[in-house]
Amino acid sequence: MFSRRKLLKIIGFSYLFFFTLPYKILSAGVKKIINPNLSNEQKDIMFNEGTERPFTSKLLKENRKGFYHCANCKAKLFSSNAKFDSGTGWPSFSEALPGAFKTKVDYSFGMKRIEYHCANCGVHHGHVFDDGPRTTGKRFCNNGLCLIFIPES
Ligand SMILES: [Zn+2]
Repeated sequence: MFSRRKLLKIIGFSYLFFFTLPYKILSAGVKKIINPNLSNEQKDIMFNEGTERPFTSKLLKENRKGFYHCANCKAKLFSSNAKFDSGTGWPSFSEALPGAFKTKVDYSFGMKRIEYHCANCGVHHGHVFDDGPRTTGKRFCNNGLCLIFIPES
């Protein structure tokens, strides 16, 4: 039989599970693979909050007018007007389109950062910092692999 201490421990853990369960269901339910052609690297970034290697995105050199969309659900996220060269090696934007993203505080790697994800499909896109251009003061540091650029025609 279980000792009293062991039993209390098991009950304690089940409570923990019980309280975090709704969150787990919610977050699992929100993040869905909509684009079946996502690569493993894209999935790692979008679903495990991974980060692509800096200076690898083809979008760094993209200077045409148009919009940046979510690579998973195609939601419109950024206008090319907000894009700037931050020198960090990741596509950077001074502002997102209204309602494009939701944010949460991320404490990973011992830092407090603001993580943002697609408001439509829930996948991770990047982090937003307060050291952006003077116009907004914001710098949306976005993984290029999470974006699809569609030029204005
Ligand atoms: Zn999306």
